[in-house]
Amino acid sequence: IGSPPRNLHLLLPSPGIGHLIPFVELAKRLVHQNLTATIITFSDLSSHVQQSLLSSLPVGISSVSLPLIPLDDLPANAHVVTRLSHMIARSIPFLRLILQNLQKFNTRIVAYITDLFGGDTLSVATELSIPRYVFFTSNFFYFSFFHNLPHLYSESGGVHHTLSLPGCVRLHARDFSRSAIDKESEEFAWMIRHAKQIDRADGIMVNSFEAVEGDAAKFLKERGKGKPPIFPVGPLTSKVELESKVDCRYMQWLDRQPDRSVLFISLGSGGTLSMEQTREMASGLEMSRQRFLWIVRAPAGSDASANYFSAQGGGRSELLDFLPPGFVERTKDTGMIVHSWAQQEKILAHEAIGGFLSHCGWNSTLESMVNGVPMIAWPLYSEQPMNAVLLVEGLKVALRPTPQVEKLVNRDEIAEAVRRLMEGDEGKEARKRMQEVKQAATAAVGVEGASYMALTSIVNIWKASGL
Ligand code: UDP
Repeated sequence: IGSPPRNLHLLLPSPGIGHLIPFVELAKRLVHQNLTATIITFSDLSSHVQQSLLSSLPVGISSVSLPLIPLDDLPANAHVVTRLSHMIARSIPFLRLILQNLQKFNTRIVAYITDLFGGDTLSVATELSIPRYVFFTSNFFYFSFFHNLPHLYSESGGVHHTLSLPGCVRLHARDFSRSAIDKESEEFAWMIRHAKQIDRADGIMVNSFEAVEGDAAKFLKERGKGKPPIFPVGPLTSKVELESKVDCRYMQWLDRQPDRSVLFISLGSGGTLSMEQTREMASGLEMSRQRFLWIVRAPAGSDASANYFSAQGGGRSELLDFLPPGFVERTKDTGMIVHSWAQQEKILAHEAIGGFLSHCGWNSTLESMVNGVPMIAWPLYSEQPMNAVLLVEGLKVALRPTPQVEKLVNRDEIAEAVRRLMEGDEGKEARKRMQEVKQAATAAVGVEGASYMALTSIVNIWKASGL
């Protein structure tokens, strides 16, 4: 007679720290509901951020790494979606082994959870009779778009001007998710494939909440028979506690700044700017005469996602010689520069922060919301332009600079947007609305809140099926 079976749920976030972070947070919430969790990760030996995150998982959550999956046969400039889709598809035999081994060792797997790019792996769970769930780490707006993609392109040959998805703010074709634009591309084919798979899940959790996307959530929840049930479970945001040797001079610097006086600038885990745009950003910040804390990354040509697979700072040079000459010295009293990576969640929670210039990644957006910080939208790739539309036009909690020249926001436009947010009436209004969003966010994930109850109802489904 062995020990009783452990009730485990398994999670497979697709590659990238922006996917791993919300999965860790989801696992934490499920552990609170008396489950244990194993997170299956893609090896990223050079990512110190991923390693610190995994080495500091709380009791009840373990991780197991898939072997390194070579992609050398792909073209060097293959799109992020293409790269991560190949990684997932090639990992399936290893995933099957991991799941089979766990089942052998007296472990009852109550659910297998993957994300929007993991549809191909759902079949492994089906083979092993494990309930299949998708955790959609973005919002309902993007979910609607993603889910509709195959239909949009098969029915009308694509969308040329604007698109009105039920319950969502109107979308212009220029703001479409970047990987869903070029119909001839490999990433587009992957997107269609993933979108078709998502409804094979037994349930779909979305990291958003009804107070900000009530109509879209309602429409999707009522999609009709045969579709998996949808659960808004957000905002699931985390405190990324890195290990002890983190340089926290920037938190000490924040402690010395007046309340709500600092603009925080961060472009997520993957975002980079061109050399020209980096210099304009520096000059614009200087001209704005506002305090700022900027997570700076070395410029990377025209690929805005250049940092996605390159490990968030692992072993990179910390030289700042790409910034305008004298910039660091001239702004040393009002500005703080951090190279490559900082503890964003902690920064956004600091009372000195008054605004956030963000690439509008959904985790960053949620972190801004839970801290009531109004934003400047600076979308780069993926669904970020859609998130920007939701924030600027839908919720009106963000401003957006309006460049005269396509693809380059100049220093005057940056300085103006920064001043509008930090000092202007528009900024005040955006802050007021963000405070309301903050309250709604706190209520949603609090005990008895709608998102908390949605997650509990999923656990109850698992319990009813023999937990
Ligand atoms: N992040 C961080 N420090 C950084 C950059 C990013 O802690 O210097 C965290 C950020 O708080 C968020 C995640 O990394 O939780 C980025 O996810 P998001 O969805 O915003 O963007 P992505 O990186 O996926 O583009």
